Formats: sequence, C-alpha cells, structure tokens
Amino acid sequence: MKKENIKEFLKQLKAQCPDVEIVQEKEERLIYAHGCYPVEYKWILQGPYKYLPLAIVRPNSTQDVSIIMALSDRYDISVIPYGGGSGIVGGTIPDHEEIMIDMKKLRSFEINPIDCTATGGAGWTGAEFENMLNEHGFTSGHYPQSFQSAVLGGMVSTRAIGTFSTKYGKMDDMVNSLEVVLPNGHIVQTHRTPKASTGPELDQLFLGAEGVYGLVTKVEMKIYPMAEKRYFEAYTFSKTEDALEAIRQFVQNGVHPAVVRVYDEEEAIPKIEKYGYEPGQVFVVFGYEGLKEIVDLEVKLVKRYAEASNGVCRGPKPGNDWFKTRFSTKKMLDYDAIKGGTADAIEVAAPWDSIVNVWREMRKALEPLCESVDCHFSHVYHTGASVYVIFHAKTNGDDFDGEKRYRECLDTAIRTSVANGGNVSHHHGSGKAKAKYLVLEHGEGGIEVMQKIKDALDPKGLVNKGVLGL
Ligand SMILES: Cc1cc2nc3c(=O)[nH]c(=O)nc-3n(C[C@H](O)[C@H](O)[C@H](O)COP(=O)(O)OP(=O)(O)OC[C@H]3O[C@@H](n4cnc5c(N)ncnc54)[C@H](O)[C@@H]3O)c2cc1C
Repeated sequence: MKKENIKEFLKQLKAQCPDVEIVQEKEERLIYAHGCYPVEYKWILQGPYKYLPLAIVRPNSTQDVSIIMALSDRYDISVIPYGGGSGIVGGTIPDHEEIMIDMKKLRSFEINPIDCTATGGAGWTGAEFENMLNEHGFTSGHYPQSFQSAVLGGMVSTRAIGTFSTKYGKMDDMVNSLEVVLPNGHIVQTHRTPKASTGPELDQLFLGAEGVYGLVTKVEMKIYPMAEKRYFEAYTFSKTEDALEAIRQFVQNGVHPAVVRVYDEEEAIPKIEKYGYEPGQVFVVFGYEGLKEIVDLEVKLVKRYAEASNGVCRGPKPGNDWFKTRFSTKKMLDYDAIKGGTADAIEVAAPWDSIVNVWREMRKALEPLCESVDCHFSHVYHTGASVYVIFHAKTNGDDFDGEKRYRECLDTAIRTSVANGGNVSHHHGSGKAKAKYLVLEHGEGGIEVMQKIKDALDPKGLVNKGVLGL
C-alpha cells in the first residue's frame, strides 16, 4: 500500500468515472470503520476509534468496479469491499489504511421465470431482493436473521445461511452463477448452465472467499414459486439427544421441512416457562412450506419420527410466535453494550456422530467464563448439523477487559469444537477474527493452496489484506 498515491488514485478515478461518489469526510469514514464484530463494539466504547478507511468509493456498475480495481492495482492502493456491514468476524476492519468500496449501488435486477433464476446486483439487501421476487410470485427461500442489512455480495462472500435452510439450502446451494471483478480489474462471468464438465466449478472459488480473490458484482440465484402453504408446529422432547435423533432419521430418509430449530434444555427455559410446559424439556420448532399436499405429508412424517423419539406435539401457536420474533438478537446486543460485557454467537458444524459431543463440550467449556450460554441447532444436513453456542459474559472491569474476555471465549469455543470433531465456522466466515484458527481445519496444505491462489490473483495482496489469514 502506498498511502502517498491516494491523491493520484482518486484524481484518476474522478477522471475515468465521474459518477462514482468519493467520500472523505471523517464522520462517514467512521461509519464504515466497523461492521458488527463484537470486538468492534468494544473498540467504540474504549475511546478514539482505532482504524479509519482513507476514503469510501461508491461504484454504480461492474465497469466502475473494474476501473477502481485496475487503478488500485496501478497505484498500490489497498481496498476492502463493503456490503451491508453486518459481518460479525471482522472482515471489514480497515487496519491497513484501505479505501472501502461500498457495493450497495450495484442494483441491477433481472428475472427469468422459465429457468427459475433471478440475477441481482451485489448491493441488494436480502429483504429488497426477496420483495422484488415476491412481486413476481417467486421466493429465494433465503431469510437470514440479518435479512434487512446483509446484501447479496456479502452473503455470497460469507456463504451465509437462512432459517429456512433445510428446504432451500444455504447460499452455497442457491447461487447459479456469479459475475466477479478480479483484483487486476478483469471481469469473470461463471457459467450459467445447470451442470458442466469443463473443469473446476469457479463459483466455489469465490463463494465464502470474503473478497480475497475478487469482488462479486452480480449474483444469479435459483428461485422458487411462492409456497402454496406455510405451516409451523412446535414439539417438546425430554432431551436434546432425542430431538436430534428424530431429525437425523427423517432428514436421512428424505424429509425436509423448511425450518428445523432445536433449543437445548437451557435456551428452551424461557419458552418452556412461557407456554407452561413441564420444566427441563427441549423446545423444537418445525416449519414447512411448498405445495399443500407435500406440506401435509411432511407434517405427518415428522410427527412419526418425533413420536418415536418421545416428542410431544404442541401445535402451531409456539411456532407462529417464533416466526414473528425471528429477527430479534436483543439479548446479545445488550451484553455487548454493557461496560466490561461481551457476547457472540459461535456457529460450528459437525458430523452427526460428533455433534452431541461438540455441543456438550462447548457448553461445558464456556460456562465458567460466562453468565449464560444458549445453544440451539437450526441447520441440518444428510451427514451432520450445526450448533450455535451463544455466550453472554460480563467482567467487573472495563471494555478492555470485555475485549479480553471475548477473545478467551472465542478461543475456548473454537478449540473445543475442533477437538471434538467440529469445525471453525459454519456460516459467519472467518474474517480477521477467526483467521488464525483456519489452519486447524484446513491443515498447512489447505492454507498453502489458498495462499497460492491469492498470490496468483492478487500478487500485491491489496484486496482484504489479512482476511482468511491471507
Ligand atoms: C444481527 C445479525 C444477525 C445475523 N444473522 C445471520 C444469519 O442468520 N445467517 C448468516 O449467514 N449470517 C448472519 N449474520 C452475519 C452476517 O449478516 C453475514 O455474514 C452476511 O452474509 C454479511 O453480509 P454483508 O453484506 O453485511 O457483508 P459485509 O459485512 O459488508 O462483508 C462481509 C465480508 O464479505 C466481503 N464482501 C462484502 N461484499 C463483497 C462483495 N461484493 N464481493 C466480495 N467480497 C465482499 C467483505 O469485505 C467482508 O470480508 C448476522 C449478523 C448480525 C449482525
């Protein structure tokens, strides 16, 4: 990065793309200085903010992004693509005097009802994209909790996932093709056919790459006709293991309700109390959508497997209540705001034969460091599941102590997951927060491959320096 080149870079950018907005006011730079990584909250509370980007640029088109990247390459300017800023692993920390490329003005939209695909610019939020699809009678099936802030490019780049994932899959499954601008400004369109046998699938290189190999400018998504019927039903089980066993059995036998959420004995307490069920039980929500006959059949089949594991059906009301409050993350944010407090949702995945151990051991390891630990399972697959371990901790000290406790909790959570057969991250990405743990998952060999691709595509290391540890 050559900071002294910034003036010339911006001058050239103005000359070549007069419509690209360039922002250098301190207040705006402060807004872009952080995302939603809990440590960034602590930095805000600790005093003068640590890192500010040098400037923010707002391209209007793929062509603008291409010119920005070619110029940043020519003038050695480090850059960070910035989507909705809802990332929670520190993927957008400007700690190398970067400029931010705000991708939110990329807002093209095309729908192809015959192929059942829609192509959106990287800047649409999940909610905006979904609303446009709904107007045409389609859905993406992608409803992450950050639906109103995360944008298409950011969600591709972190391999995001939504609450209806058991039916519609994760972002990795939803993408049909991508348009990407490489660090040297070249534009790549990956192929749009449903299958090809022409070498590696290039979408996979950019999915979850958090920008290190290039900037996603357009996303072609698979879409689905809007559901004829949507239905929720809650169950209670006497223990987490029983609920997971029922779910493993029905998923492996091809039953895929859209929503599967298992709240363990601790996280279930407020819900069990609210509905007056017998204390100590596990609370589960199943959600179904699609053609009416398929929904009715899935409800019946899930009941068969749930009852075989001693599950008790509690009817639709508690499930409908969950649907109405599904975007709330208040408890976590409250802890982040407390002096000396901290909180985060650590999400990891494990095969079925390890998931119970991962959940139990992570809970056990975090409890001594925290006031409370909540755990739920909300994404399940043929071969395994993910578990959210949400820690809420409070020190008697200041926000530096809060930051220290955060790092202890994160370290404990990840090392315990990996030691018991789980991974480092299921869908939040790695950013800079989890970068040093990636070697635990990929091994030295895997990291070497990732670094060699980085060196080939971005030899000066100008894009998202430090993210994924590259
Ligand atoms: C309250 C809350 C709830 C959340 N719920 C969920 C959830 O349910 N499911 C889930 O998966 N995640 C969730 N998250 C995490 C977050 O929303 C996701 O990681 C999301 O995908 C990030 O998208 P973004 O547009 O905000 O990306 P940003 O935060 O702007 O960026 C994330 C990373 O991607 C890079 N990037 C951004 N845009 C591009 C681009 N166009 N091309 C290349 N790289 C790019 C950035 O440089 C950064 O490294 C939640 C976060 C919060 C705060």
